[in-house]
Parts: sequence; structure tokens; C-alpha cells
Amino acid sequence: MTVTDPVERAVIEAIDIRGLLAFLSDLVAIPSLDGSLGEVAAQEYVAASLERLGCEMDVWEIDFDELRRHPAFSAEAERQRGLGVVGASGLGNGPTLIFNGHVDVVPAGDESLWRFPPWQATIADGFVYGRGALDMKGGLACAIFAAKAICDAGVRLKGRLLIQSVIGEEDGGCGTLATVRRGYTGDGAIVVEPTELRIAPAQAGALNFRLTVPGAAAHGCVREDGVSAIEKFFPIYQALMDLEAARNAAARLRDDPISRLYRRYTLPYALCIGVVRAGAWASTVAETLVAEGRYGVAVGEDLEAARRMLEEAVARAAQSDPWLQEHPPLVEWWGGQFAPASTPIDHPLVQTAAAAFADITGAPAVFEGMPYGADMRLLVNEGRTPTILFGPGDVRDAHRPNERVAIADLRTVTQTLALVALRFCGVA
Ligand SMILES: [Zn+2]
Repeated sequence: MTVTDPVERAVIEAIDIRGLLAFLSDLVAIPSLDGSLGEVAAQEYVAASLERLGCEMDVWEIDFDELRRHPAFSAEAERQRGLGVVGASGLGNGPTLIFNGHVDVVPAGDESLWRFPPWQATIADGFVYGRGALDMKGGLACAIFAAKAICDAGVRLKGRLLIQSVIGEEDGGCGTLATVRRGYTGDGAIVVEPTELRIAPAQAGALNFRLTVPGAAAHGCVREDGVSAIEKFFPIYQALMDLEAARNAAARLRDDPISRLYRRYTLPYALCIGVVRAGAWASTVAETLVAEGRYGVAVGEDLEAARRMLEEAVARAAQSDPWLQEHPPLVEWWGGQFAPASTPIDHPLVQTAAAAFADITGAPAVFEGMPYGADMRLLVNEGRTPTILFGPGDVRDAHRPNERVAIADLRTVTQTLALVALRFCGVA
């Protein structure tokens, strides 16, 4: 560590990792699945913690009827209730910095595949295991405990630090949209998603789509009398994979600073079919097939043009099949529609975060674009707030069994966030 400033050192020494792990354990134990009341419980827990820190609190009921009319609104889950939570500290006589983290988590899946119970944090071999430990209750814990360390060290920020705890990130970002709409924007924001400690000034877009392929039912014993929607899906699937290859090959040729941030990935803009449902009975030819997937979109790409590309690829595949010519597959865009977003690498926020990371770890910061969609886009595109993604852990451990985050990463991120807040907002 090359931090020599006494105030910065005092804040870093005040970081309470034990308290952070206890907070994270409590939060993992709340199954805050998208659309469930667990989201409300998790938000109440976070709000109480921020209040104990001495933050000025704003906790409000999200008005979904109003929010749904916003063009950037997207959600898969139906919600009865949702809470917005913002905790603020600092004098407000300088720049405003936002730490944004989501409390909602994806389902645990087959729990028998987990080494440890998903809804209970377990500490083993230097990691915290549990659903949400990584994505992204761990990152949110870092943000809160960075603010706590500043407070515990008796330091007041000149500017303002806003901690935004949000719901609904995984299914479309309704929580961050509601928070931006309530007026919470800033001069810079860090969304604490897992980035393997890389500074990510770019996030790709991801558009959910649904494909319905028609067939014709017949008794399985005379299957030639019917048309299997499953068989008709094969050429369409191949066309989608060809489209993915072509789009990623084209992206590789782009040579601007943001495109270069994606060089590490062979498929930065993946097209993934995650759900296929077809047929109704084992001995009936499948009458319809429904496939649902996500479609990666590059920074700077026009969303409508990207959607058209996929629709045209499906239409072309259908044109080469007599049945599909007459019975064209339907493409629908539904649920999460995550636009891409970026912040210039020379922006003070990006540079402050990189310098803080280097001072904490003694290693230079690595810049990278993230291939997933995240709430960064709402802060950038709707809130006009320059934003980066920076957080503990590897996204490869997310959305799967044995989700985990390294305790060493939690420490590094908390230390880095504390430094960024001190330097970006200034000390009173
Ligand atoms: Zn996340």
C-alpha cells in the first residue's frame, strides 16, 4: 500500500472487515429473489444499517404504475411492492459520488448442486459462499463499509456520498431507474458489480427476446403427418449462432478505446438461448416451440438496428424452409432490455478509481469492458452520471451453484472505494 496521507490512512485502518462479513451474512440469509417480498426485507435491512451509520435516509415505496410508463423501464417479475433506499453523507459543498448496489438475486437453482446451503453465508477457504454473496450483496457491503470507515474515522466529506441500494437489477433495473427518477444523480457513480477488481468504464447491452416457432401436431406414430416445431428450430438456432459469430468478428475489427476494452473476450457480445419449451406430450409431434434468450449489444450500437439484425437473421432462415415461409417464426422483445453504456477513460472518476486501486494494491489498475448488462446504463443514459463498474469477485461465479466472493477482494474493494470517496468528494 502506498497511501501516505494521514486522513486516508486513518480511514483505511477504520475499515471493519469483521462487521462487513456479519452484514453480508445477514443479507445473504434474506432470499431477495426478484419480485419477491424478500427484496423489501433486504432493503429494510440495508436501510436500517445505513441509518445506524448516521446517513440521512430516504426510503420510499416505488410507484410502479408511474415507473412502467418510462421508456427505459423493463421488468420480468410482477411486483406488488418495492422500496427505494438512499443513504447520504457529507456536506454537499463538493462533488457528489454514488455507490450503487442491488439486493435482488437470481434463484438458487438445484440446491443439491451447492457445496453449502445457498441461503446461508458460509466462509470457507477465504471465500464467502451463498446466493448473492458475489452478485452483488458483497459489493454493496463494501460500499456501505467504506462509508462506515469514513464515518468511524471521524472524517466528513466536503461533497456528498450517496449509497443507493436497489431492487430489480437482474430483471431490468427498475430499482435504479426509480432512484434516478427520484432525482438521485451525481458527478460520478460506481456500480459495485463483480469485475475481478478491474475498472470497467463500459458495459455491454443485453436484450431479452422470445422466439415462437410454429409446427403442426400429429400422433407420434405418424409423425410425418405433422411438422415438428423442434426440427424447425434447428436451422433458426444455427442462423442465430452464425449471427453471433459475425457480430463478434465485426466488433473485433473496431479499434476505438472502448472497443479495445473487450479484447480479452472471445465472445464479448454473446447470444445465448437459455430456455426452450416445446411440445405437450411425448407421443405428439411438437406443435410449438418457444425459445428465450439474451442478445449481446456492443457499446455505441443502436438498439433498434441490433434488434432488426436478429429479426432479419430469423426471417432469412425461415425463407429457406417451405413450412417456415408459410408459418414464419415470431420474434418478441420482452423483459430486460439493457442498453450498453460507457464513460470516457480520461474522466476524473475513472482516473481517481484507477489511482486509488493502484495505491491500495501496489499494482496498476486494469481497464476492461464488462460483457454483461448492468444498472450502469441507467445512471449514464438516464441520470447523465459518469459511471464505472468496479467490484469484488468474478462474474463467472455468479448465477450458478457455489456462488462465492473472495474475502481478500472484499477488503481491496472497500479500501479502494473509501479512497475514491475521500479523493472525489474531498475532505471537509
Ligand atoms: Zn449483479
